[in-house]
Amino acid sequence: TPMLEIRNLHVRIEEREILKGVNLIVPRGEVHAIMGRNGSGKSTLSYVLAGKEDYEVTEGEVLLDGQNILEMEADERAAAGLFLAFQYPIEIPGVATMTFLKAAMNAQRKARGEGEISTPDFMRAVKEAGAALRIDSDMLKRALNVGFSGGEKKRAEVLQMALLRPKMCVLDETDSGLDIDALQVVSHGVNALRDGERAMLVITHYQRLLNHIVPDVVHVFSDGRIVESGDKSLALELEAKGYAGFDETKAA
Ligand code: ADP
Ligand code: MG
Ligand code: MG
Repeated sequence: TPMLEIRNLHVRIEEREILKGVNLIVPRGEVHAIMGRNGSGKSTLSYVLAGKEDYEVTEGEVLLDGQNILEMEADERAAAGLFLAFQYPIEIPGVATMTFLKAAMNAQRKARGEGEISTPDFMRAVKEAGAALRIDSDMLKRALNVGFSGGEKKRAEVLQMALLRPKMCVLDETDSGLDIDALQVVSHGVNALRDGERAMLVITHYQRLLNHIVPDVVHVFSDGRIVESGDKSLALELEAKGYAGFDETKAA
Protein backbone atom coordinates (compact mmCIF):
# COMPACT_ATOMS: atom_id res chain seq x y z
CA THR A 1 0.00 0.00 0.00
CA PRO A 2 1.22 3.50 -0.80
CA MET A 3 1.35 5.94 2.12
CA LEU A 4 -1.06 8.28 0.37
CA GLU A 5 -3.38 7.56 -2.49
CA ILE A 6 -5.81 10.10 -3.91
CA ARG A 7 -8.29 8.79 -6.45
CA ASN A 8 -10.35 11.03 -8.72
CA LEU A 9 -10.92 13.67 -6.04
CA HIS A 10 -13.54 16.29 -6.85
CA VAL A 11 -14.20 19.10 -4.38
CA ARG A 12 -16.55 22.07 -4.33
CA ILE A 13 -16.51 25.24 -2.31
CA GLU A 14 -19.74 27.20 -2.32
CA GLU A 15 -21.12 25.39 -5.38
CA ARG A 16 -17.95 25.97 -7.36
CA GLU A 17 -15.83 22.99 -8.38
CA ILE A 18 -12.21 23.66 -7.34
CA LEU A 19 -10.65 20.19 -7.48
CA LYS A 20 -11.52 18.44 -10.73
CA GLY A 21 -10.28 14.89 -10.45
CA VAL A 22 -6.98 14.76 -8.54
CA ASN A 23 -5.09 11.48 -8.84
CA LEU A 24 -1.92 11.05 -6.81
CA ILE A 25 0.10 8.22 -5.32
CA VAL A 26 2.87 8.90 -2.80
CA PRO A 27 4.70 5.66 -1.94
CA ARG A 28 6.16 5.27 1.54
CA GLY A 29 9.57 6.86 1.96
CA GLU A 30 9.14 9.30 -0.93
CA VAL A 31 8.96 13.08 -1.04
CA HIS A 32 6.65 14.47 -3.71
CA ALA A 33 6.26 18.12 -4.64
CA ILE A 34 3.20 19.82 -6.07
CA MET A 35 3.85 23.02 -7.96
CA GLY A 36 1.21 25.23 -9.49
CA ARG A 37 0.23 28.81 -10.01
CA ASN A 38 -1.76 30.79 -7.50
CA GLY A 39 -5.41 29.85 -7.41
CA SER A 40 -4.94 26.43 -9.03
CA GLY A 41 -6.34 24.67 -5.94
CA LYS A 42 -3.22 23.51 -4.09
CA SER A 43 -4.31 24.80 -0.69
CA THR A 44 -7.80 23.45 -1.25
CA LEU A 45 -6.22 20.02 -1.61
CA SER A 46 -4.30 20.42 1.65
CA TYR A 47 -7.40 21.66 3.52
CA VAL A 48 -9.41 18.69 2.28
CA LEU A 49 -6.65 16.36 3.49
CA ALA A 50 -6.76 18.13 6.86
CA GLY A 51 -10.51 17.64 7.12
CA LYS A 52 -11.38 21.32 7.23
CA GLU A 53 -15.10 22.05 7.04
CA ASP A 54 -16.90 23.79 4.17
CA TYR A 55 -15.21 21.68 1.53
CA GLU A 56 -17.66 19.39 -0.22
CA VAL A 57 -16.13 16.21 -1.60
CA THR A 58 -18.43 15.21 -4.46
CA GLU A 59 -16.40 12.31 -5.78
CA GLY A 60 -13.27 10.34 -5.07
CA GLU A 61 -11.26 8.77 -2.28
CA VAL A 62 -8.26 9.58 -0.11
CA LEU A 63 -6.44 6.62 1.41
CA LEU A 64 -3.80 7.06 4.11
CA ASP A 65 -1.81 3.85 4.39
CA GLY A 66 -4.86 2.05 2.99
CA GLN A 67 -7.42 3.73 5.30
CA ASN A 68 -10.09 6.02 3.87
CA ILE A 69 -9.60 9.27 5.76
CA LEU A 70 -12.47 11.24 4.26
CA GLU A 71 -14.78 9.61 6.79
CA MET A 72 -12.56 10.66 9.70
CA GLU A 73 -12.60 13.80 11.86
CA ALA A 74 -9.51 16.02 11.78
CA ASP A 75 -8.18 14.65 15.09
CA GLU A 76 -8.66 11.05 13.94
CA ARG A 77 -6.63 11.83 10.84
CA ALA A 78 -3.84 13.18 13.02
CA ALA A 79 -3.96 10.06 15.17
CA ALA A 80 -3.76 7.96 11.98
CA GLY A 81 -0.44 9.65 11.24
CA LEU A 82 -1.28 12.60 9.02
CA PHE A 83 0.32 15.97 9.71
CA LEU A 84 -0.31 19.24 7.88
CA ALA A 85 1.66 22.46 8.01
CA PHE A 86 -0.03 25.48 6.51
CA GLN A 87 1.07 28.81 5.13
CA TYR A 88 -0.84 30.60 7.89
CA PRO A 89 -0.66 28.45 11.04
CA ILE A 90 -3.27 29.16 13.69
CA GLU A 91 -2.45 31.32 16.67
CA ILE A 92 -3.37 30.00 20.09
CA PRO A 93 -3.43 32.92 22.54
CA GLY A 94 -2.94 32.01 26.16
CA VAL A 95 -1.41 28.62 25.49
CA ALA A 96 2.35 28.37 25.75
CA THR A 97 3.93 26.59 22.80
CA MET A 98 5.40 24.06 25.21
CA THR A 99 1.96 23.27 26.66
CA PHE A 100 0.49 22.90 23.20
CA LEU A 101 3.24 20.52 22.10
CA LYS A 102 2.81 18.33 25.16
CA ALA A 103 -0.95 18.20 24.67
CA ALA A 104 -0.47 17.23 21.00
CA MET A 105 1.93 14.44 21.95
CA ASN A 106 -0.40 13.18 24.67
CA ALA A 107 -3.40 13.22 22.31
CA GLN A 108 -1.43 11.07 19.90
CA ARG A 109 -0.35 8.69 22.67
CA LYS A 110 -3.91 8.41 23.96
CA ALA A 111 -5.18 7.53 20.47
CA ARG A 112 -2.59 4.74 20.43
CA GLY A 113 -3.62 3.53 23.86
CA GLU A 114 -0.39 4.75 25.49
CA GLY A 115 -0.12 6.69 28.75
CA GLU A 116 0.95 10.33 29.04
CA ILE A 117 4.55 11.22 28.39
CA SER A 118 6.56 11.98 31.53
CA THR A 119 7.78 15.55 31.97
CA PRO A 120 11.49 14.60 31.86
CA ASP A 121 10.95 12.56 28.66
CA PHE A 122 9.02 15.41 27.12
CA MET A 123 11.65 18.00 28.08
CA ARG A 124 14.40 15.83 26.66
CA ALA A 125 12.57 15.34 23.36
CA VAL A 126 11.81 19.05 23.01
CA LYS A 127 15.34 20.06 23.88
CA GLU A 128 16.82 17.67 21.35
CA ALA A 129 14.50 18.54 18.48
CA GLY A 130 14.47 22.24 19.38
CA ALA A 131 18.25 22.58 19.28
CA ALA A 132 18.43 21.35 15.70
CA LEU A 133 15.80 23.90 14.73
CA ARG A 134 17.41 26.73 16.74
CA ILE A 135 14.35 27.06 18.95
CA ASP A 136 15.18 28.40 22.38
CA SER A 137 13.23 27.94 25.59
CA ASP A 138 12.07 31.57 25.45
CA MET A 139 10.17 30.91 22.27
CA LEU A 140 8.59 27.81 23.78
CA LYS A 141 7.19 29.83 26.67
CA ARG A 142 5.39 32.23 24.35
CA ALA A 143 1.82 31.57 23.14
CA LEU A 144 1.82 29.40 20.03
CA ASN A 145 2.31 31.51 16.89
CA VAL A 146 1.13 34.71 18.60
CA GLY A 147 3.54 37.40 17.45
CA PHE A 148 5.88 34.78 15.99
CA SER A 149 7.83 35.85 12.93
CA GLY A 150 7.33 33.84 9.73
CA GLY A 151 10.49 31.90 10.48
CA GLU A 152 9.48 31.17 14.08
CA LYS A 153 6.08 29.85 12.96
CA LYS A 154 7.67 27.45 10.48
CA ARG A 155 10.26 26.30 12.99
CA ALA A 156 7.50 25.66 15.54
CA GLU A 157 5.67 23.55 12.96
CA VAL A 158 8.70 21.50 12.07
CA LEU A 159 9.30 21.01 15.81
CA GLN A 160 5.76 19.63 16.10
CA MET A 161 6.51 17.28 13.21
CA ALA A 162 9.76 16.15 14.79
CA LEU A 163 7.96 15.35 18.06
CA LEU A 164 4.90 13.67 16.56
CA ARG A 165 6.84 11.78 13.88
CA PRO A 166 3.82 11.45 11.56
CA LYS A 167 3.72 8.87 8.75
CA MET A 168 2.60 11.42 6.18
CA CYS A 169 3.55 15.10 6.23
CA VAL A 170 1.91 17.71 4.01
CA LEU A 171 3.62 21.10 3.88
CA ASP A 172 1.67 23.84 2.13
CA GLU A 173 3.74 26.89 1.09
CA THR A 174 6.09 26.29 3.96
CA ASP A 175 8.67 28.53 2.31
CA SER A 176 6.62 31.68 1.99
CA GLY A 177 7.87 34.53 4.11
CA LEU A 178 11.13 32.81 4.99
CA ASP A 179 14.51 34.40 4.56
CA ILE A 180 17.33 32.17 3.36
CA ASP A 181 18.58 31.33 6.88
CA ALA A 182 15.14 30.31 8.12
CA LEU A 183 14.56 28.36 4.91
CA GLN A 184 17.74 26.39 5.53
CA VAL A 185 16.87 25.66 9.15
CA VAL A 186 13.36 24.53 8.25
CA SER A 187 14.55 22.44 5.28
CA HIS A 188 17.21 20.82 7.42
CA GLY A 189 14.53 19.91 9.97
CA VAL A 190 12.31 18.45 7.28
CA ASN A 191 15.17 16.53 5.67
CA ALA A 192 16.13 15.08 9.05
CA LEU A 193 12.69 13.45 9.12
CA ARG A 194 13.17 11.72 5.79
CA ASP A 195 13.60 7.98 6.16
CA GLY A 196 12.61 4.89 4.26
CA GLU A 197 9.08 4.97 5.65
CA ARG A 198 7.71 8.49 6.16
CA ALA A 199 6.21 10.15 3.08
CA MET A 200 5.95 13.86 2.40
CA LEU A 201 3.99 16.10 0.10
CA VAL A 202 5.56 19.52 -0.35
CA ILE A 203 3.32 22.13 -1.95
CA THR A 204 4.94 25.24 -3.31
CA HIS A 205 4.55 28.02 -5.79
CA TYR A 206 8.28 28.51 -6.32
CA GLN A 207 11.09 26.18 -7.23
CA ARG A 208 13.35 27.66 -4.53
CA LEU A 209 12.24 25.35 -1.70
CA LEU A 210 12.99 22.30 -3.84
CA ASN A 211 16.68 23.19 -3.91
CA HIS A 212 16.64 22.50 -0.19
CA ILE A 213 14.08 19.71 0.06
CA VAL A 214 14.88 17.69 -3.04
CA PRO A 215 11.79 15.76 -4.15
CA ASP A 216 11.65 12.29 -5.67
CA VAL A 217 8.75 13.31 -7.89
CA VAL A 218 7.37 16.69 -9.01
CA HIS A 219 3.73 17.12 -10.02
CA VAL A 220 2.36 20.12 -11.87
CA PHE A 221 -1.04 21.29 -10.70
CA SER A 222 -3.30 23.29 -12.97
CA ASP A 223 -6.96 24.15 -12.68
CA GLY A 224 -7.76 21.61 -9.99
CA ARG A 225 -5.81 18.60 -11.15
CA ILE A 226 -2.36 17.18 -11.80
CA VAL A 227 -1.45 17.72 -15.43
CA GLU A 228 2.12 16.44 -15.51
CA SER A 229 4.53 14.47 -13.31
CA GLY A 230 8.27 13.96 -13.56
CA ASP A 231 11.53 13.98 -11.65
CA LYS A 232 13.06 17.03 -9.96
CA SER A 233 14.15 18.47 -13.32
CA LEU A 234 10.48 19.21 -14.01
CA ALA A 235 10.66 21.92 -11.32
CA LEU A 236 13.53 23.61 -13.16
CA GLU A 237 11.70 23.32 -16.44
CA LEU A 238 8.69 25.00 -14.86
CA GLU A 239 10.79 27.78 -13.43
CA ALA A 240 12.31 28.41 -16.87
CA LYS A 241 9.15 28.19 -18.96
CA GLY A 242 6.48 29.31 -16.52
CA TYR A 243 3.18 27.56 -15.98
CA ALA A 244 1.69 28.57 -19.33
CA GLY A 245 3.16 25.58 -21.14
CA PHE A 246 1.45 23.19 -18.73
CA ASP A 247 -2.00 24.68 -18.76
CA GLU A 248 -5.47 23.65 -19.74
CA THR A 249 -4.51 22.16 -23.10
CA LYS A 250 -2.57 19.45 -21.31
CA ALA A 251 -5.29 19.01 -18.72
CA ALA A 252 -7.95 18.46 -21.38
P1 ADP B 1 -3.71 27.84 -4.44
O1 ADP B 1 -3.37 27.32 -3.09
O2 ADP B 1 -3.21 26.98 -5.55
O3 ADP B 1 -3.26 29.26 -4.61
P2 ADP B 1 -6.45 27.74 -3.52
O4 ADP B 1 -6.76 26.33 -3.23
O5 ADP B 1 -6.15 28.63 -2.38
O6 ADP B 1 -5.29 27.82 -4.61
O7 ADP B 1 -7.68 28.37 -4.33
C1 ADP B 1 -8.26 27.73 -5.45
C2 ADP B 1 -9.51 28.47 -5.87
O8 ADP B 1 -10.52 28.30 -4.89
C3 ADP B 1 -9.32 29.98 -6.03
O9 ADP B 1 -10.06 30.40 -7.16
C4 ADP B 1 -9.90 30.54 -4.76
O10 ADP B 1 -10.43 31.82 -4.98
C5 ADP B 1 -11.01 29.54 -4.44
N1 ADP B 1 -11.25 29.43 -3.00
C6 ADP B 1 -10.37 28.98 -2.09
N2 ADP B 1 -10.90 29.00 -0.85
C7 ADP B 1 -12.16 29.48 -0.99
C8 ADP B 1 -13.25 29.73 -0.07
N3 ADP B 1 -13.12 29.49 1.24
N4 ADP B 1 -14.39 30.22 -0.59
C9 ADP B 1 -14.51 30.46 -1.91
N5 ADP B 1 -13.55 30.22 -2.82
C10 ADP B 1 -12.39 29.75 -2.37
MG1 MG C 1 -2.74 30.89 -3.03
MG1 MG D 1 -2.16 28.02 -1.56
